[in-house]
Amino acid sequence: MTGKKPACAIAIISRNGIGREVTDASLPITKKLSSRDIPLDIMHVVKCYHSKAKTWIESQIRRIPFPIRKILREVGVYCFRTDASVDGTVSRKRKTTDGRLSCHTSHFNEELDAIILFAKDVCIEEGTFNMFLHEVGHALDWHLGHKKFYISEYIDCGEPLDEHAALNPREQFAQAFEGWFRLRKRLNPSEFEHSKEDVKEKAPELYKLFQSLGEKP
Ligand SMILES: [Zn+2]
Repeated sequence: MTGKKPACAIAIISRNGIGREVTDASLPITKKLSSRDIPLDIMHVVKCYHSKAKTWIESQIRRIPFPIRKILREVGVYCFRTDASVDGTVSRKRKTTDGRLSCHTSHFNEELDAIILFAKDVCIEEGTFNMFLHEVGHALDWHLGHKKFYISEYIDCGEPLDEHAALNPREQFAQAFEGWFRLRKRLNPSEFEHSKEDVKEKAPELYKLFQSLGEKP
């Protein structure tokens, strides 16, 4: 124990969060919402005191085609103000799929079935990839494997889009998902920034998958 207070959550409760207990008592959820508080047209409700973060996350959720949001409706999102250690919420020892420590890094957490976001990764799209959509990609990958495995491990993920995507098929899937949202790149894109066209060219099977999921009624 460091004696520090747990980080303050800008809590988000998933659609079925009402029935889903997060077992760790130290998780600083600020409020539980009832199901009627949750509009049907969004994947999650973001309850947060940081109105800019809430607005931004919700705007990102709205970019996700509705059929994909339906697949992801159980996924919760927790947005923390600080990237200091988040006591108790996520394991200190656990690593993310790309090998970083879970308690310092925005990531999709299988155990919580939730996206953990830190404020530093919110509202950012300049010069880097959209972290939230990348993590949504991981969540989608996991949910398509019925929360038993990552579907990316079983399908042809194509040619790695970048160094990060080359780490493993799950990172490729998440990067491709994020890139699938970008119709065109900025003038000087970062090496981690990809467009829909790049995904189509380098990861055609993933492109087809996202297209078909996005169009499902
Ligand atoms: Zn990742």
